[in-house]
Amino acid sequence: MLTEFYHLLDDQFDKMVEIRRYLHQHPEPSFHEYETAKFIANYYANLGVSDVRTNVGGNGVVARIKGAKPGKTIALRADFDALPIQDEKDVPYKSKVPGVMHACGHDAHTSTLLAIANVVFQKRDELKGEYVFIHQHAEEYAPGGAKPMIEDGCLEGVDVIFGTHLWSTEPLGQILYRTGPVMAAADRFQITVQGKGGHGGYPHTTNDAIVTASQIVLNLQTIVSRKVNPIDSAVVSIGSFLSDNAFNIIADKATLIGTVRTFNEQVRDQIEKEIEKIVSATCQMNDSTFTYEYSRGYPAVVNHEAETEFLTECAKGIPGVTEVVESPQKMGGEDFAYYLQKVKGTFFFTGARRECEDEVFPHHHPKFDIDERSMLIAAKTLLTAAIKYQDYQE
Ligand code: MN
Repeated sequence: MLTEFYHLLDDQFDKMVEIRRYLHQHPEPSFHEYETAKFIANYYANLGVSDVRTNVGGNGVVARIKGAKPGKTIALRADFDALPIQDEKDVPYKSKVPGVMHACGHDAHTSTLLAIANVVFQKRDELKGEYVFIHQHAEEYAPGGAKPMIEDGCLEGVDVIFGTHLWSTEPLGQILYRTGPVMAAADRFQITVQGKGGHGGYPHTTNDAIVTASQIVLNLQTIVSRKVNPIDSAVVSIGSFLSDNAFNIIADKATLIGTVRTFNEQVRDQIEKEIEKIVSATCQMNDSTFTYEYSRGYPAVVNHEAETEFLTECAKGIPGVTEVVESPQKMGGEDFAYYLQKVKGTFFFTGARRECEDEVFPHHHPKFDIDERSMLIAAKTLLTAAIKYQDYQE
């Protein structure tokens, strides 16, 4: 039975490439994906799917297709937002929107999910259960689209969810799975040091905010190296150090902005407190005051064990899949985390590296691109999991 499904997906491949390239040329940034959402809704309308909800939790689109026989409800998710990056590729399908680019492959995720929906719709009379196609807006920008879509009912009645991310640095043919925490919680913090400005020639009459903030940057380095248990992974990075004054002025104020990445909630709480302790003590030492804001982004993506094992078994033997390997943990964030807090499931990676090129560009790079055949492998893997899960017993 699955072989027939694979042939139907093979038949969809040219169309998948066409859709992916169309979306690639017409990217829209997070929370502004109006035309992309329309494109998706139109696709379902043309296919003849009647149960389609638009504006789910924002720009989200959710289509439901019922099989002829009773069974489980399986959700598959693809995101569809782009990034504020200038496309620097020299290809015919280069972005037509200045400063906006599908630099994370969400165009291909969308095309993949539409092809699966097409095949499920064609074969609905032979299928058990119900299939929920979650097209999610705003993955790239916290608070993200997943949370409001869940609040708006996209997971209603759902028994399990599967999702994949194409990965431009992993070889084509690879499926990468991991049980437990697989992607990090990604938080943002901002510190403003208030010192006392003054004349560059009279430092003793000032409290130099640049010196204080510099000490903070260095002191923060001890959180991961000396405070967090070495068995746990964590990152504390400062991405922005702002204080702009004339050459002969001592800074009154300096602002630091950074990110924290963690895989478990205790470490996350610990780091939030450690930062405050360091900022407070360093400012006290320098007769300065501060403000500190810690904003939580997405929690860690934590895959369910049984479903991950199930997916791994499904992936073996799928045409095009040459290797099923354990993925290392990734320090990037993903709001797929929220779905997995509500229902069972797993999020995996599909290798999409372009072997034709000398240089491989990572996600969010202005020259990011994928091997489009990865879409077919992702589609076959997701569809296999969705269908086989109907008969799966834990
Ligand atoms: Mn992404």
